Amino acid sequence: MPSPEAIVSNAQVSTAAANQVDVRDAGQLAWLLGRDPKQRVRVRRTLVAGLIYLGGALFLAGGVHEGLVERTSAILLVAYESLGFGFFYLAIRSEFSLRCMDPSLTMLQIIHGLGAVVMSYSLIPGARSLTLPLLSLALTFALLSRLSPRQTMICGLSATAMLVLAFAHAYLLRAATVDVMQESINLIMAALSLPVFASVSRQVKEWRDRLDQQKDHLVKLIGDLRELATRDELTGVVNRRSINATMLEEYLRFKRHGRSFCLAMVDVDHFKRVNDDFGHYEGDRALMALATHAIKFVKRPDQVARWGGEEFLILMPECDLLQAQRTLEDMKATFSFLVGDGTASPRNVTFSVGLAQCLAGEALAGVQSRADSALYQAKAQGRNCICVAAL
Ligand code: GH3
Ligand code: MG
Ligand code: MG
Repeated sequence: MPSPEAIVSNAQVSTAAANQVDVRDAGQLAWLLGRDPKQRVRVRRTLVAGLIYLGGALFLAGGVHEGLVERTSAILLVAYESLGFGFFYLAIRSEFSLRCMDPSLTMLQIIHGLGAVVMSYSLIPGARSLTLPLLSLALTFALLSRLSPRQTMICGLSATAMLVLAFAHAYLLRAATVDVMQESINLIMAALSLPVFASVSRQVKEWRDRLDQQKDHLVKLIGDLRELATRDELTGVVNRRSINATMLEEYLRFKRHGRSFCLAMVDVDHFKRVNDDFGHYEGDRALMALATHAIKFVKRPDQVARWGGEEFLILMPECDLLQAQRTLEDMKATFSFLVGDGTASPRNVTFSVGLAQCLAGEALAGVQSRADSALYQAKAQGRNCICVAAL
């Protein structure tokens, strides 16, 4: 068994390490991505789109150099992509987009991407064979993002409409560069793929909804399990495991800031006799009554826990002995519970308390042990009283 001091120092080390990791994660490239984890994901996605645009711009520069692409067309296209990318990056990075329904601006970004594809169709005749694969790529992003089937459909329809316009535009301005048969096939293919996209999108949405439901269910389950792991089943107060963790936190706070805390060990008097004379059911009722009374009585941040059997522990943070003693005396004076099963004459349930305040330089186990000794003293003095451990 590690000593309480060892547990304390281990806890300190692991908390400090965890804090360092958090700070380092949030700090990486904060000037570019920001600090909020959700915002960082959105900004990162926009930057990926920016990298794709940068790759396209480099290709265009190569095309211009080789005389395959007109300089003006390349400038127009790069200007369109850069303006769009700049807008999306600034809107998301400045957190302006948080005011929108979709803070990632997914649909706008996809439509902007589709626009870039259609613009290159119109401006760069040599790249027309790439149009359909590039459109499919943009629509695949729509499928994988959190767009609804309706929004995905709108993206698909916009892509087809833009393609028709680009086709008409190219045909009217540079009829010689348009292979009407080929382009008609492209358009028909684009139109035919729309219902497929719609149905796949619906399927993806169904899977995603199911996953979300399962996630909600798991979150609830974890909450329930945590509740089960920290609560005492009979009385509803926190259990020993939970109060041990809270006590350790309070002890660390005391060491750091010097604000002392008190511990009270509460034990029902002659409880064995209650069980023997009236049965376990009556005994249980008495325990529940005492726990309910204690919870009502102590105010946050004080905490009542079932320490075991008929013993309760009350942790009173940032509290001196006098205050703690007053609270416990009031709690004692106002508690009254009669046990009786109808056969024997009813009996009033009482309890004894051992109270101790944590001293500077004292170990956690030390203050617990002094509270325990004070409780023994209270029992020895005839029970139904509060004994305060000497400082
Ligand atoms: P003292 O005043 O010195 O504390 O005497 P006591 O009888 O209260 O103490 P003792 O330790 O002799 O007996 C405690 C009893 O508490 C024995 C055990 O059966 C009973 N007990 C422990 N847990 C429960 C519980 O959850 N329900 C009931 N009904 N009884 C319990
Ligand atoms: Mg007892
Ligand atoms: Mg006991």
